[in-house]
Amino acid sequence: MNEKLQNLLELVRRTAWQAGDLAADAAYGAGRAAEDLLSAAKLRVQAATVDSEITAKLKDVGEMVYATHTGTPTESEALLAKLQEIDGLKARLADINEALGRETAAEVCSTCGAALREGDAFCRECGAKR
Ligand SMILES: [Zn+2]
Repeated sequence: MNEKLQNLLELVRRTAWQAGDLAADAAYGAGRAAEDLLSAAKLRVQAATVDSEITAKLKDVGEMVYATHTGTPTESEALLAKLQEIDGLKARLADINEALGRETAAEVCSTCGAALREGDAFCRECGAKR
């Protein structure tokens, strides 16, 4: 492996723990944002958007690493900033998916559409069997 690339990857490895801290902060902020969203449909759109942002940034990282390999070294700060953005987006995506899980897990009565509570055998509104 060429030396520049090796140094770059070593730096990335050494600073991974910092990225973890930043991701935790981002997850907190994203969690509050996700709670503000009301419908599963909105959450799905959000998840798809964040997912494509992650894909785009991973592509950028790949290009930075490849440029380094071919003799045009990437500024390590630029690469780390990109990786941290990805950490933040990954945390946000996990949060959205968690909120989406809660949203879709809520069961409703198949007769009247009222919300069912955990453990209910019959609908509290219309009495239909669950
Ligand atoms: Zn019902």
